[in-house]
Amino acid sequence: DVQDSLRELKQLAETAGALVTGMTWQKRDKPDAALFIGKGKVEEINHLRQEQRASIVIFDDELSPAQQRNLEHELGCKIVDRTALILDIFAQRARSHEGKLQVELAQLRYNLPRLGGQGLVLSRLGGGIGTRGPGETKLEVDRRRIRSRISDIEQEIESIRKQRILQRKRRINSRIPTVALVGYTNAGKSTLLNALTAAGVLAENKLFATLDPTTRRITLPNSQEMLLTDTVGFIQKLPHQLIAAFRATLEEVLEADLILHIVDASHTRFQEQMKAVHDVLRKLGADNKLTLTVYNKMDTAQNPLVTEQLQSDAASVGISALSGHGLPELLDLIQQTLRQSKVDIELVIP
Ligand code: GDP
Repeated sequence: DVQDSLRELKQLAETAGALVTGMTWQKRDKPDAALFIGKGKVEEINHLRQEQRASIVIFDDELSPAQQRNLEHELGCKIVDRTALILDIFAQRARSHEGKLQVELAQLRYNLPRLGGQGLVLSRLGGGIGTRGPGETKLEVDRRRIRSRISDIEQEIESIRKQRILQRKRRINSRIPTVALVGYTNAGKSTLLNALTAAGVLAENKLFATLDPTTRRITLPNSQEMLLTDTVGFIQKLPHQLIAAFRATLEEVLEADLILHIVDASHTRFQEQMKAVHDVLRKLGADNKLTLTVYNKMDTAQNPLVTEQLQSDAASVGISALSGHGLPELLDLIQQTLRQSKVDIELVIP
């Protein structure tokens, strides 16, 4: 489990543009309050770092601001935790205005408690009066600026969200069904979206190629139309602050008439990845939604477990988004499912 998580961390670091020179871990009952890891481990890492001339040490868990500072002091290099690493990747990849704002918001919230020493003491002593203005420490000015930027961004995001709700209402009125692609990162969502449209959405063999929901209008073979929406990829330990910041991009999932869960069938741990996706969907309250499981990369997958799943689950289909194999069957299944769900809806609403 630790190995797996570290392997994912390595992939994340590479996605962020780092060259990973070594990895190590420690088994402890609970993290050290001051350093997260033990003294001996700190020495070992310091040795490793100097030997391999590494300029950054990345931790797979979240560090407290104090732990981060102490480690920086002890190791004499930049210390990054999993949250900061993911934020960095998000920052590189956010494309839409809303995506960029959300990343900035998450970064500001992450950085606020990590700004230097005891800046707040001064204003507490004076009860705030007379300590503002020129007498104020730079740190306090920084904090105040950050807080005001945070509230500006929150307002802007709120107005964008209202706009989206309006757009969504219009869509519902026009009765075009919405289909949302979800899946573990790297499962092939962007590739599938590309295959089904000529959308030209960025597809890369890196984590998080997709950050913002991208919606495309697609005509099904029976000439019915649907809106296909791509969503951000899921990972096993998505920091909770990020779940909050990216809820808006996942709201599309809640609104969708149908969810396509894209699975990388060639991955040895595809079942664990599926579970991670199910967990996030449950947290979002989207676990009862109509869902089709799409086993992708069937051109390279020869897993009997996948074959078994495909045979036993009528709401599943095997495809290769890359070669186009199985896409007609997928569209057919979408068509049938949407038609069926429409009948259901009409039965419920007299
Ligand atoms: P996303 O993160 O879910 O959007 O995944 P991408 O669409 O970016 O795909 C991740 C990687 O998987 C890319 O290198 C794709 O070329 C590759 N990929 C996607 N679909 C297939 C497929 O059907 N077969 C194979 N062999 N590779 C695929």
